Amino acid sequence: MLTELKREAYEANLALPRHGLINLTFGNASAIDRTRGIFAIKPSGVAYADLKPSDIVLIDLEGKKVEGKLNPSSDTPTHRRLFAAFADIGGVVHTHSSHATAFAQAARAIPIFGTTHADYFNGDIPVTRKMSAREISGGAYEWETGNIIVERFEKLDPTDFPAVLVNRHAPFTWGKTVAKAVEVAVAVECIAHMALMSLSLEPKLKTIEPALLAKHFKRKHGPAAYYGQPEM
Ligand SMILES: [Zn+2]
Repeated sequence: MLTELKREAYEANLALPRHGLINLTFGNASAIDRTRGIFAIKPSGVAYADLKPSDIVLIDLEGKKVEGKLNPSSDTPTHRRLFAAFADIGGVVHTHSSHATAFAQAARAIPIFGTTHADYFNGDIPVTRKMSAREISGGAYEWETGNIIVERFEKLDPTDFPAVLVNRHAPFTWGKTVAKAVEVAVAVECIAHMALMSLSLEPKLKTIEPALLAKHFKRKHGPAAYYGQPEM
C-alpha cells in the first residue's frame, strides 16, 4: 500500500548522501499521508546504496508498524512526535551534516547573518535545551528528543522556523513535503557553514538588519510572497 508515499520517502533518503549531508547511516527522511495518518520512513541501519523503495517502512501516528519487513529507523519516535505536533508539515529530515552539527554540539543557535538564511528562516535557527538524565535513560529517548523540540517551539511557528538543532546532537528539518524538508536540510548546512566563516572573518558580527530580514523572508513566505512562480 501507499506505493507513492514510499517512493517519495525513498527518493528523499537517497537525496541526503547525494547532497553530502550523510556519512555512513547517520540520517533519515520520512513522508506522511495526512488523510490516512500513516508515514513512510527509512529502515534502521540499511546502507543507502542497498536501499530499495520496498524496504521503506509504514508507521501510523500511534507508532504501530503498518507495513514493512524491516525495523524502522531508531529515530522514528522523533519523526512521529513532530508529525503529531506540527499539523502543517508533510516531511521530516534528520542529518548529522557537519557544520550544522557543530552548532548543535556547541549548544548554539545559528545566528542570522545574511539573506541566504533569511530566505528560509524568520530569525536564528533555534537550538533545544539539553536533555535531562531521565529523558536520556528513561526508555523513550527518541520520543523525548521529539518532546524537547516541541517544547522549543512553544512560542515559535514551525513554518517560520523549519528546522531545529537538538542540543549535543544534530539538526532536524521539515517542510510541506519531504522534498522540501531535504531542501531545508541542504540550506541549513550551507547557512551553518557560511555563519562559521563569517564569524571567523568578523568575530563580533551582528545579526542581519530587521528590514533586510523582513524583505527576504516575506518575499518567499506568507501572503505577500512574490518570489518564484505561483503554485499550480
Ligand atoms: Zn541523529
